Amino acid sequence: MSEVASFRRLGSTLCKTRQFYILLLLLIACSVFYYLGEIVTFSGAAKSFFNGVHDVHRLLFIVPIIYSGYFFRIRGALIVTIAALAIFMPRALLISPFPDPVLRPVLFCLVAGTVGALTGLARNTFERSQQLEAIARSDRDKLLGGLENMEDGIVIIGPDYRVRFQNPSMAREFGEGIGSYCYAYLHQLGGPCSDNCQLKTVIQGATKRWEYSHPNGRTYEVVASPIVDSDRVVCLLAVYRNISHFKRIEQELVNINQLKSELLSNISHELKSPLTSIKGIVTSLLQKDIQLDNDTREMLLDGVNEETDRLGSLVTNLLNMSKLEAGGWKPEKEPCYIADIVDEVLKHQKWVHMNHIFRADLEPDLPEIQADYGQIRQVLINLLENATAYSEEGAEINIRARVVDKDIEVSVSDHGVGIPSDELSKVFGKFYRGTQKRRDHGGAGLGLAICQAVIHSHQGRIWAESILGKGSTFYFTLPIDHVDYD
Ligand code: ADP
Repeated sequence: MSEVASFRRLGSTLCKTRQFYILLLLLIACSVFYYLGEIVTFSGAAKSFFNGVHDVHRLLFIVPIIYSGYFFRIRGALIVTIAALAIFMPRALLISPFPDPVLRPVLFCLVAGTVGALTGLARNTFERSQQLEAIARSDRDKLLGGLENMEDGIVIIGPDYRVRFQNPSMAREFGEGIGSYCYAYLHQLGGPCSDNCQLKTVIQGATKRWEYSHPNGRTYEVVASPIVDSDRVVCLLAVYRNISHFKRIEQELVNINQLKSELLSNISHELKSPLTSIKGIVTSLLQKDIQLDNDTREMLLDGVNEETDRLGSLVTNLLNMSKLEAGGWKPEKEPCYIADIVDEVLKHQKWVHMNHIFRADLEPDLPEIQADYGQIRQVLINLLENATAYSEEGAEINIRARVVDKDIEVSVSDHGVGIPSDELSKVFGKFYRGTQKRRDHGGAGLGLAICQAVIHSHQGRIWAESILGKGSTFYFTLPIDHVDYD
């Protein structure tokens, strides 16, 4: 680096020396031409044109004066002007036959000196502006070099709405846009964005921040400030940060909060209504002044029994869900038969829901499976409870089981209200409650979510089919082959 600098210095010194000699030659040539008449007369020749029109001869000195102004700037022009005046003086004082012989050379020197000095000044100004431009360009290049590698999108927009610069991230997010109009590039518009356009405000010196949703669905935080480009035009530099991810998280947090409030109010309601019924029934039973016959007493006790079951089922689902959330409800596999689980669950359900008709249709000799007996029983209970809750009393509920490929497929069908097709995939979501009404007013939207979690943890599949107003069938599969669940 220092060698290059010293070569440059040597080069400029040599150049200056050359220009100095050229200037000297110019001055000598002008002086010889100025005194040519005297030289010719001195050598014995007769007087000629050269002895007379010295004003014209003098004009020639403008060349070395401008030359010195151009190369040696103001000081050079002044020195050469003074030298020229010194050259003019012998003739003015000793030889000139005209009146006022000093005035005209002095006037010439004033004019020529001013022209020379102006030439120097113009050259100085031009060079300084070039230097400033070079500094600005190198600053811009440095800045843009840094911006190239930034993860955020950077764009520079001129006052003519044209995109002057974009970094690779910007090109990735919005595509290539250099030379395009910002409103077309960023907003797919045919003209400037009327009231929302921040370009003018920013160019006038303000820094602005706003959020921008691109038609591609992404959300950006934009910070725009003024920047002077290398051509000294004030432009807008905007940083586009993709905040879609944060927006999604923000929305999820809002949803979670909403869900939490809904859940709390839902669960409080679900817990309170059976408790209120139980309290009412027990109060009636305890009233000594009212004689209850056996049938009424039995009916009231049945009521307590049903409400207690409802409470039990809700609390079981809540406990199971919290175990699932905490990851502590892993299946404890053991060899078992799906027919045994169906038998046990049906016995209980038939007793609890006496007004429904349960029919089991199980393929004979269903193979043994490895499953968590308690968890699969809970799945069947949840599906059967839903089947009774969403169908009229007296309706038939069917449980089928068969071998399909390497799985056992179990299904629970009812002839109830059915599920709209757009809800079929949502019903397995946590706390999801559909539009259809339960007969028994219970439910917290957890039953099917638990079923899904259990079946998935057994490497099975679960899904629903339904015809609105006709009934629903819930299917799940369990693999027959031994599967390691850990
Ligand atoms: P819930 O406690 O609300 O019954 P679930 O998770 O068991 O919660 O069910 C979620 C939703 O799926 C219910 O709110 C209901 O809309 C719908 N659903 C479940 N089973 C049935 C069914 N057999 N018939 C009609 N809709 C059902």
